[in-house]
Amino acid sequence: MIIDFHTHITAPEIIARRDEYLVRDAWFRDLYGNPQARLSSAEQLIVAMDAAGVDQSVVFGFGWRDMDLCRRDNDYVMEAVARYPDRLFGFGIVNPAAGAEAVREIERCAAGGLLGLGELMPDGQGYRLDDEKAMAPVVEAALDHDLLLLTHCSEPVGHLYPGKGTVTPDEVIRFARLFPGATLICAHWGGGTIFYELMPEVSRLMCNVYYDTAASLYLYQDDIFGLAARWAPGKVLFATDYPLLTPQRVIRRMREARMPEATLRRMLGGNAWRVLKLGQRSACDAEGKEVSAR
Ligand SMILES: [Zn+2]
Repeated sequence: MIIDFHTHITAPEIIARRDEYLVRDAWFRDLYGNPQARLSSAEQLIVAMDAAGVDQSVVFGFGWRDMDLCRRDNDYVMEAVARYPDRLFGFGIVNPAAGAEAVREIERCAAGGLLGLGELMPDGQGYRLDDEKAMAPVVEAALDHDLLLLTHCSEPVGHLYPGKGTVTPDEVIRFARLFPGATLICAHWGGGTIFYELMPEVSRLMCNVYYDTAASLYLYQDDIFGLAARWAPGKVLFATDYPLLTPQRVIRRMREARMPEATLRRMLGGNAWRVLKLGQRSACDAEGKEVSAR
């Protein structure tokens, strides 16, 4: 079972009219102003998954500042999940800075069968992850509806890249301290937060925090896969950041990173299965069907 925990899909009408959206959102322009930066539809993602033997992917749109654009992306994600119910799990995007409007959209996403919120982009959307006032309503709504949270993170050091932002380990750790009940997936290894899990007082705070490997090939040497496996084998979620990277390429590099086969299996899908509560969900579905059949 291989699950890619971090993929972006974009509605075909946004792909077709990309230039208009570059004007509407500065962060989108930063990331996709370069015509080489690819956008992908759900169909294209499925083709890439099939080529790599990926069973299922977590899909989301873009972290827009404007809630109208968030709603539009969420519509597309819900539609994609309805079209590929066995292949895709959807996350919804909201802007926590929008307050009550964001909470209403979280409720709509939960009712539409989405399993989480993300990829939050605090720098692009205009808030901080450790701003208790801004984040509390969103976290509360996520907890009410049993939704996961996934945020963009980045390294406080190293090269700059479009969309890097400033959600660094100190901010992530403060979030975990403020909201210990929320399950948080930190993209891009949490900008290095995973290394601080070697500190006992940090790892105690991070019991509901996980790390995805999105974009890793552009950030770290492949040694990171085997190293992180030594102290956090249950916390690493295979992820590509597709269409930035194809699953085929990332899986090959993870296999070459030489780690115990059981650990690799956990990273590629076992951990995701647990975080997404897939075992419980299929049991619930079966019960739901029984109830409705009566
Ligand atoms: Zn990201």
